[in-house]
Amino acid sequence: MELCKPKLWIKHIVLELYPIKSKKNFNHFLAQSKNDKYLSYSKFAAQLPKLKKEYNWLKEVDSISLQQSLKDLDKAFKRFFKGLGGFPKFKSKKNNKQSYRTQYFKRSNGTESIEIKDNKIKLPKLGWVKFRKSREITGKIQNVTIRKSKVGKYYISICVQEEIKELPQNNKAIGIDLGLKNFLITSNGEIVSNSRTLSKYKNKIARLNKRLAKKEEGSNNWYKVKNKLARVHEKIANIRKDFLHKLSTKLICENQTIIVESLKVKNMLKNSRLAKSISDASWSKFVDYLSYKAEWYGRELIKIDTFFPSSQLCSKCGYQNKKVKDLSVCEWECPKCHSIHDRDINASKNILQQGLQLQLTSR
Ligand SMILES: [Zn+2]
Repeated sequence: MELCKPKLWIKHIVLELYPIKSKKNFNHFLAQSKNDKYLSYSKFAAQLPKLKKEYNWLKEVDSISLQQSLKDLDKAFKRFFKGLGGFPKFKSKKNNKQSYRTQYFKRSNGTESIEIKDNKIKLPKLGWVKFRKSREITGKIQNVTIRKSKVGKYYISICVQEEIKELPQNNKAIGIDLGLKNFLITSNGEIVSNSRTLSKYKNKIARLNKRLAKKEEGSNNWYKVKNKLARVHEKIANIRKDFLHKLSTKLICENQTIIVESLKVKNMLKNSRLAKSISDASWSKFVDYLSYKAEWYGRELIKIDTFFPSSQLCSKCGYQNKKVKDLSVCEWECPKCHSIHDRDINASKNILQQGLQLQLTSR
């Protein structure tokens, strides 16, 4: 028997954190760059000890994260001077993306810069911070990124290296048709409807939008409503991500071969009528999840060309029925073999067959 080499994978675990202090260092150094044109990372870093004496708040900030943000700034400048990017922007407090990254390391006395115990994480300078434990944290910590969201919630993304054991192989294969009416339909005839989160919150969003329109733009009350609205959107995004994770894990666990249509989401988004339901459904994120989980667990994900007429072919006899092109056709009878097809289930069966054929020819 062949010996399997252990494979190491990088995972990002995102958790919600309870309030912590925000970071100001990035701004400071960027402001300096604007004055002095360009200071390299080493010059910045050399200034740190002196600046720490000058500015008290720098002492509150952990030194690794300071160096990290300087490196990020340095990178942004290098891109700018190579003509690859614009002049680095200030990380303002109003900016939605407030974040900083810090590394894991072991000190000479054996203590670690980052530790996790139950629902608490120890971070340099900040000490122990509580987080909402929504999933297990396994693997070796590499670094963490702390981010403040639009609505002022804090999230921590823990980057861990983990040895993930491949799942025992099976001989099941499944074709998946990503739909509009439903989120997906499998070749086994299983229908997974869109996570109902948006429809559930639709009324709430409409109500808040109405209220927002009545407020004077920029007033305190306007900001209050706007903040509420952002909270609802954030909640929806979190629930949706959870839905996509659970579904992708289930499909990967149950099947050895998973076949999907490769998506040209951007092209489809041009059609505005379809756009909303597609972006709601977050297909591309879902296919991403499938793709890396397949690698982790030793499964095969096969993507079928978008131009493959999965809806039009009869999955029984192979006859191509161009009339099915019309999106309103939900059920049809094959003119040749007279099988009756559900549009989406038939499509997923074709995706499965096409994928298995590709698999055969590539071996
Ligand atoms: Zn037929």
